[in-house]
Amino acid sequence: MRDGFPDFRLGTVLATSFTGTLSERHGNAVERIPTPQRLVDWLTVSGLAVDSCTTAQLDLARELRESIHAAATAAAVQDALPASAVRVINDCSVHGRAAAVLTPEGQRRWQLGSASSVEDALSVIASDAVSIIAGERDGRLALCASPTCQAAFFDTSQSRTRKWCDMNTCGNRQKKARFIASRSSGGRAGS
Ligand SMILES: [Zn+2]
Repeated sequence: MRDGFPDFRLGTVLATSFTGTLSERHGNAVERIPTPQRLVDWLTVSGLAVDSCTTAQLDLARELRESIHAAATAAAVQDALPASAVRVINDCSVHGRAAAVLTPEGQRRWQLGSASSVEDALSVIASDAVSIIAGERDGRLALCASPTCQAAFFDTSQSRTRKWCDMNTCGNRQKKARFIASRSSGGRAGS
């Protein structure tokens, strides 16, 4: 928690880290970018620092987020991609200026357009989503096994058998639930 806001859950894949800013979509949803400033914070830790963010830009970001979530979910279960989601992703990808540049240390850095606007940052996220949903990257789109979460995540494990979007939250909760269930059934068996 920072300033009373929920922490971010950062993964290694930009697009699904972004969709993870809303978690527990099928339970008590947790909005991790509730204010424009929190989106600025998230973009900063994700290597996409912007100068400022308006309420309208936050709305646009959330629209992109839910569109990526919808398209990634459809791709994970091999359904047809929802046309409206594809349109939003493509619009965001097109309407931003960003370039990948190399640092002297040989790392990739995103250089946003001269205005460093939210739209520039969203275009990077949208194009990351395109590469994952199109199956261009080494990995598999899957849905979190937690019934209250069902987040789309990108499984890059060697066996491609990852079950949870996040081991520290969904994975742990599931393990704990199993532990409690096994203890209580063990107790009944013993009595
Ligand atoms: Zn999950």
